[in-house]
Amino acid sequence: MSVLVIIPAAGSGTRFGGEIPKQFQPLGGKPIVQHVVERFLLSGLVEHITVAVTDALLTTVKQAPGDRVQFVAGGETRQQSVMNAFKAAGEEYDVVAVHDAVRPFFRIGTLEELIDTAREFGGALPALPLSDTIHATRDGRLSATVDRSNLVAAQTPQVFRYDVLRDALERAVAEKFDGTDEAGVAARYGYDVRVVPGDPHNIKITRPEDLALAEAHFEEWSRE
Ligand code: C5P
Repeated sequence: MSVLVIIPAAGSGTRFGGEIPKQFQPLGGKPIVQHVVERFLLSGLVEHITVAVTDALLTTVKQAPGDRVQFVAGGETRQQSVMNAFKAAGEEYDVVAVHDAVRPFFRIGTLEELIDTAREFGGALPALPLSDTIHATRDGRLSATVDRSNLVAAQTPQVFRYDVLRDALERAVAEKFDGTDEAGVAARYGYDVRVVPGDPHNIKITRPEDLALAEAHFEEWSRE
């Protein structure tokens, strides 16, 4: 059983501000995306990691860190970056895991649970129930309160059988649908995508204040 990992890291990080996109901000002295890559390399199941980066960065990355890691040019949207990485990686894998470059705190145990679930059903993602009340708004006013009992907040890694992700991505391209995650794309085309319990520590570093939170969590995490 072989696992391909795709890491879309080609975002410009506009919500983060500043010159350096969030996925390259240092955490414990190393770029966030490097933590992510090194963590996946710890798993013996992971055969290959393809990281989608911006064109500008691609020209400066002379050498990938070892032959299990490859850099490719990303696209204009996250989904296009994932597609580029998927095509560049080739076809010799059973399972594909797609993971945000800005989530350094995922657990290998969760990854393995996701892989088992995806092999059985087609796809799997970690997700958390919502604790806040969710309202829809229009022009700055509440227009409706959403029933949150069936809602979850999606995390990554999101894992799929290779053929499931290929078909879902190809169908999305064909109908020009651009999703914000791959689980949503696979479910849109009728695939069975199962939810496994997410982890509140598996945060997506999106805004500058998230980085302070991540630094605080990092020390505790490194001791585990
Ligand atoms: O934009 P968002 O924060 O949702 O991005 C999630 C992930 O997708 C990040 O790791 C980001 O670098 C990546 N991304 C990408 N190519 C894009 C846009 C986002 O690889 N064009």
